[in-house]
Amino acid sequence: MVTAKKFVLVKHFEGEPKPDDLQIETEELPAIQDGEFLVEAEYLSVDPYMRPYSARFPVGITMIGSQVAKIIESKNQHFPVGSRIVGYLGWRSHTVVNLKNFQGSGVADAPPMLLPDMGNLSPSLGLGVLGMPGQTAYFGFLEICKPKAGETLVVTGAAGAVGSHVGQIGKIAGLKVIGIAGSDDKCQWITKELGFDHAINYKTQNVGVELKKLAPNGIDCYFDNVGGEISSTILYQMNTFGRVSVCGSISSYNADSSAYPKATVIQPAAVFGQLKIEGFLVTRWADRFLEGSVKNLQWIKEGKLKYRETITNGFENMFKAFAGMLKGENIGKAVVKA
Ligand code: NDP
Repeated sequence: MVTAKKFVLVKHFEGEPKPDDLQIETEELPAIQDGEFLVEAEYLSVDPYMRPYSARFPVGITMIGSQVAKIIESKNQHFPVGSRIVGYLGWRSHTVVNLKNFQGSGVADAPPMLLPDMGNLSPSLGLGVLGMPGQTAYFGFLEICKPKAGETLVVTGAAGAVGSHVGQIGKIAGLKVIGIAGSDDKCQWITKELGFDHAINYKTQNVGVELKKLAPNGIDCYFDNVGGEISSTILYQMNTFGRVSVCGSISSYNADSSAYPKATVIQPAAVFGQLKIEGFLVTRWADRFLEGSVKNLQWIKEGKLKYRETITNGFENMFKAFAGMLKGENIGKAVVKA
C-alpha cells in the first residue's frame, strides 16, 4: 500500500495566496488495476496560471499543476516501470493514473505523456524550456509577433521561464531585444548571459523614459507577460503595424476578476498605430508541440538557447515555491524537487 501526500485547496485564494489556503493531506492509494500505472513525482511545477485558474474549481480539489513523475508500478504495457511521464496530476507525491480520467486537452484534463529521452539533460526541463513554457515561448512569439530580422522586440517578465526564452528566440531571429524584469540580478542575467541587447528594471527605473532611449525608432513586437500599466506604456511606443502577443497578465493575477485594477486606455495606441493585439493559450498549437520540442532542443544543443531553473527542495515546500514565484523570487523556471 502506498500513501500519497497531496495539497488540497481548502479556501479559494483572495489577494496573495496564503499558506492556510492549502492543506497537506495523506491518502492511501488503491492497488492498480489493468491499464493503470502508479507514479512517484520527481519534479513539480509552480506556474502563474495556478493563481487565477484554481478559482474555476471547487474547494476540496487537489491543487492543480503538472509534474514529471517516474512510473514505479504498471499494468499498462505502453507505460513501463522506470520510464517517466509529464502530466497534470496536481500537487501530489504519488498517483494512480488511469488514462480514462483524462479526456480533454486543457490544463488539468490533458492526458499524461511519456517524457521523451532527453539524454543527460534534467527531466525537470519537461516542465520548463522543453515543456509547456517552452512551447508558449516558441509558438506564442513566432506565430503572433511574426518577427522580422532588424525589428525591435520588448518582452516583459523577461527573466522568467517564458520571457527569458522569448528574448533568446528574438535574438536567434535577428531582432534587437529589450527585456523588462524586476531586479538588477535578473537584468544582468538576461543581458550578460542570454544576449538580450538591453534590460530595464521596472522596479527602479522609469520604463517609458528608458524605452525612449533604448528604442528611439520604436517597438515592432511586444511579448506581454505582465499586463497592467507597464504594457500600456509600451503600447504607446510601438511602431505602425506593431504586433503584440498577449501571453499573460501576472500583474493582475492576485486581483479578484470583478475588481481588476484600472489602467490607461490602450485603444488610441491600437487605432493610430494600427496594432495587432492578440491573446492566446498555448494549447492552440497542441497538435504542433513536437515541432516546438524538436526546435527548442536543437537550440539548446547548439548553445543558442540557455535556461535556468530555481529549484526548491521538498514536496512540502510547494506553497513556498508557488508564493515566491508570484513575488518574483525565481530566475528562469520555478520548480520543486520532490
Ligand atoms: P515566470 O517564470 O515569469 O514567473 C513569474 C514572474 O512574474 C516573476 O518571477 C516576476 O518576475 C513576475 N511578476 C510577478 N508580479 C509581477 C508584476 N506585478 N509585474 C510584473 N512582473 C511580475 O512565469 P512564467 O514564465 O511561467 O509565466 C510568465 C507569464 O506567461 C505569466 O503571465 C503566465 O500566466 C503566462 N503564461 C501564459 C501561457 C499561455 O498559454 N497564454 C502559458 C504559460 C505562461 P519579476 O521579478 O520580473 O517581477
